[in-house]
Amino acid sequence: KSGFIAIIGRPNVGKSTFLNRVIGQKIAIMSDKPQTTRNKIQGVLTMDDAQMIFIDTPGIHKPKHRLGDFMMKVAENTLNEVDAILFMINAKEGYGKGDQYILDRLKLVNSPVFLIINKIDLIHPEDVLNLITQYKDKGNFEEIIPISALEGNNVLHLLDILKGHL
Ligand code: GDP
Ligand code: MG
Repeated sequence: KSGFIAIIGRPNVGKSTFLNRVIGQKIAIMSDKPQTTRNKIQGVLTMDDAQMIFIDTPGIHKPKHRLGDFMMKVAENTLNEVDAILFMINAKEGYGKGDQYILDRLKLVNSPVFLIINKIDLIHPEDVLNLITQYKDKGNFEEIIPISALEGNNVLHLLDILKGHL
């Protein structure tokens, strides 16, 4: 089994930290560059029974210049072709205007979207459930998965779920 997984989310939500944890190298940080239209492969995770190719999708963010429309089209096409989309937010900061913009765009995409609530090590365990309840209706999520990319909580569970979608 092999497939493509797009990771999207605002800066600093923990996308690179997640990739570094699952791939175990500093690949993600090295390939972080300003927005381009190209979808960058950020890392490849090879397991006994599956392979996941993680990609970045720059154009999905709110456009800052005139190339924006074109880039969004590229992003949309890419997102329609991946096996899963991880939309990552920060458990501590919650949900911002930029997040709603991305979610509205994701509604046009057919691939399954997983809401990843990262940095749960920074909040009280009982607040994790509150967040899940709060976010449930914000988008059409296949599943909502709380993790700590930094400490590793629930990351293997997430990979297991993704495997089922390859
Ligand atoms: P990116 O911009 O989405 O790639 O975010 P980074 O992976 O660069 O992370 C931004 C900051 O958040 C860094 O200082 C990370 O160490 C921190 N961070 C990432 N994941 C976690 C987490 O699960 N828990 C905590 N406490 N910090 C995290
Ligand atoms: Mg990054």
